[in-house]
Amino acid sequence: MKIYNTLTRQKEEFVPVNPGKVGMYVCGPTVYNYIHIGNARPMIVFDTVRRYFEYKGYDVNYVSNFTDVDDKIIKKANEEGVSAIEIAERYIKECKQDMEGLNIKPATHQPRATEEIDGMIKMIQTLIEKGHAYEVDGTVYFKTRSFKEYGKLSKKNIDDLEAGHREIKVTGEEGKKDPLDFVLWKPKKEGEIAWASPWGEGRPGWHIECSEMSKKYIGDTIDIHAGGEDLIFPHHENEIAQSEACNGECFSKYWMHNGFLNIDNKKMSKSAGNFFTVREIGEKYPLQVIRFFMLSAHYRTPLNFSDTLVESAKTGLERILNAVDICRDAAEKGSEDEITPKAQAHLDEIQKLVKKFEEAMEDDFNTADAVAAIFEMVRESNSTVKEFGSAYAASVLNTLETLCGVLGIETKREEEILDADIEKLIEERQQARKEKNFARADEIRDQLLAQGIVLKDTREGVKWSRA
Ligand code: AMP
Ligand code: ZN
Repeated sequence: MKIYNTLTRQKEEFVPVNPGKVGMYVCGPTVYNYIHIGNARPMIVFDTVRRYFEYKGYDVNYVSNFTDVDDKIIKKANEEGVSAIEIAERYIKECKQDMEGLNIKPATHQPRATEEIDGMIKMIQTLIEKGHAYEVDGTVYFKTRSFKEYGKLSKKNIDDLEAGHREIKVTGEEGKKDPLDFVLWKPKKEGEIAWASPWGEGRPGWHIECSEMSKKYIGDTIDIHAGGEDLIFPHHENEIAQSEACNGECFSKYWMHNGFLNIDNKKMSKSAGNFFTVREIGEKYPLQVIRFFMLSAHYRTPLNFSDTLVESAKTGLERILNAVDICRDAAEKGSEDEITPKAQAHLDEIQKLVKKFEEAMEDDFNTADAVAAIFEMVRESNSTVKEFGSAYAASVLNTLETLCGVLGIETKREEEILDADIEKLIEERQQARKEKNFARADEIRDQLLAQGIVLKDTREGVKWSRA
């Protein structure tokens, strides 16, 4: 499997730190508002990377944080007259709802920065002890020049950076010994949320959060660190400096960065005001259309967002889902039968397309080509499924569902998911009755009734219908 590594600017064979395992860390959102569909791109892309590793049998430890303390959160809290914690709490909940809609698997660990302050303080202490950081009036700075390899990810030359920084003065950072130094710990300002530390009350800088959470939940050396390309500098460059200076080990073997989601060829961003939230778009399109749209392009290329392109993704997805429906019908309706040699020859063709899908994914997760392989499979399936029996249809169905699953595309129609949910509830009601828990049984009946589902107890069991 080949991954384009931003660190070396080339595709490299993936060799895990521990055989059979992948530890990956994806920088998560700062939670002060609804996420926009630009923020959704790394979520979708790296969730798909994770799913592919799992499909290949790897045990993936997927860590993605919430940045829940930050200037923007504090500003929003002050505007609304509520606490920063309340703002973060609210938008973490909303973000999780959007992620569920986009079919993003919950991370193995989803740490919140504010719950990891102790570890950050320890890391900062180690950096001070090792001579990589210093304190001035309650602020702790990282001594950038003390890390000899600074700039290795972003390919920036430290002297050029110095020249660029000389004129920029940030208020509150007057104590810096070198304009290149960056903040690890900042002192409390009036009315701000703060934690006790050896340098007085304050809060951590943004970069140290990820260094600490990555170390705690994966280890000193992780396999993959990922995020949008705007994070390469300074965020990821600073993370490398902190982690490697602290641990004395390689921080991450592979660095993956997704390209921007653009509108009119400009980066979609909250500050520029040219953004759509996932919530808004969800009112116009099923969110899985957005997921499919994002995966129709290679993750490193810029992707322009437009209604025309999303409409075309919608049509494409519909073609796949229709093919799956036809297979499912044929698999369910036909009688059990054998696969004839002629049918087997077509299954062999399908297997070749599975290979093609895998080859695309193994070439730096080229989902665009992987989707193309699925379309070829759809053509093959549509032209043959009526000719052969149910065993053939079941086999094609299984393949299509598996590959769609790798891309995080749900092939069951909403209606069918609903049916499955109803049946689960009916089963639970039967169990409740058996256990003489009539209150729960009635509660389930009422809940279903509220959704327009009527239950009828018959001799053959419970039957249901939509009212
Ligand atoms: P933020 O909340 O700004 O820290 O961003 C969270 C994640 O979304 C980061 O990985 C960013 O790089 C990514 N991101 C933000 N805007 C875009 C965009 N327009 N296209 C792609 N990724 C983005
Ligand atoms: Zn980060």
